[in-house]
Amino acid sequence: MMKALSKLHNKKGIWQVEAPIPTPGHNDLLIKIKKTAICGTDMHIYNWDEWAQRTIPTPMIVGHEFVGVVEAIGEEVRGFKIGDRVSGEGHLTCGHCRNCRAGRLHLCRNTKGVGVNIQGCFAQYLCLPAFNAFKLPASITDSQAAIFDPFGNAVHTALSFDLVGEDVLITGAGPIGAMAASVASHVGARHIVITDINDHRLELASKMGATRTVNVAEESLEDVMKSLNMCEGFDVGLEMSGAPSAFKAMLKNMNNGGKIAMLGIPPNEMAISWDEVIFKGLIIKGIYGREMFETWYKMANLIQSGLDLNPIITHEFKIDDFQKGFDIMNSGLSGKVILDWQD
Ligand code: NAD
Ligand code: ZN
Repeated sequence: MMKALSKLHNKKGIWQVEAPIPTPGHNDLLIKIKKTAICGTDMHIYNWDEWAQRTIPTPMIVGHEFVGVVEAIGEEVRGFKIGDRVSGEGHLTCGHCRNCRAGRLHLCRNTKGVGVNIQGCFAQYLCLPAFNAFKLPASITDSQAAIFDPFGNAVHTALSFDLVGEDVLITGAGPIGAMAASVASHVGARHIVITDINDHRLELASKMGATRTVNVAEESLEDVMKSLNMCEGFDVGLEMSGAPSAFKAMLKNMNNGGKIAMLGIPPNEMAISWDEVIFKGLIIKGIYGREMFETWYKMANLIQSGLDLNPIITHEFKIDDFQKGFDIMNSGLSGKVILDWQD
């Protein structure tokens, strides 16, 4: 048996349970978990909002951000050995749809999510198809590796368009927005302006590389652009808040021909002024997950070339203190929160 965190009941909360250790199939790895991280998605599940109620079967072990060590290997698996340190892609793709067969796995139409549709990693052991595992270079710390999944969202979004020498607007300074600021800074953007309504998060984003933070409750983007001597508008927008008002402000402040990558998930249908899109000739790209596995290699290489992820990791707790982790995430006064499963 193993320790795990399960969505046991149809109400707010998460519960520590004893669960059977999963048995790896022919193509799977059994991974002994070292550290996991709490994602915004886990908070939707914890708080049991409408999306979670429609999506998550109960009881279920949740979680999808992890680092661990290979403990057992299915008989068909090649390329891994016991003791390999791995993180992994939590989107399980079908392998037989057109996009999968073309190598565009992030566009698989039959994707299943670890910790969303199938048992997750908030446990002492995770069973994962070996195909989804990513072997980690030794220079990447366990805590950095535990947040590769959301870092991958940031990298996938930020590298969707050329940022070199460009003015970039990021809306939403959650962990992913802040990590996107670090990518933009690392690759050589000019102004990296990031918005939020939470000063604590804006401060973290500036530690991560944002060159100008904007609390939109106090300041307008138009004034900020003036103060930066920007006269035309932003070249690239990264929407990372899911807030309709943030996206609308982005549309308004993009330059003609600007490019927008959208990661944030709006709570409902969202009306926008299509005039901004059409007459400015904007290009808008939706982003889901990470490119498999190109984004994973980029992540490792960005860190090895000097990108510093550490400021976004603000809290670490032993697993028995998991409740503290969920509470601090709910307070909004954190970056990434890590849970340590090691004895
Ligand atoms: P988060 O909820 O921690 O961050 C969102 C931030 O937006 C918060 O700091 C919040 O204060 C801020 N915000 C709220 N209203 C705002 C406004 N009007 N203007 C500017 N900022 C505002 O989420 P996260 O984990 O950093 O993820 C970012 C977004 O990406 C979320 O919407 C999440 O659901 C989504 N997401 C999408 C994918 C995908 O594959 N498409 C994957 C992970 C997360
Ligand atoms: Zn597929």
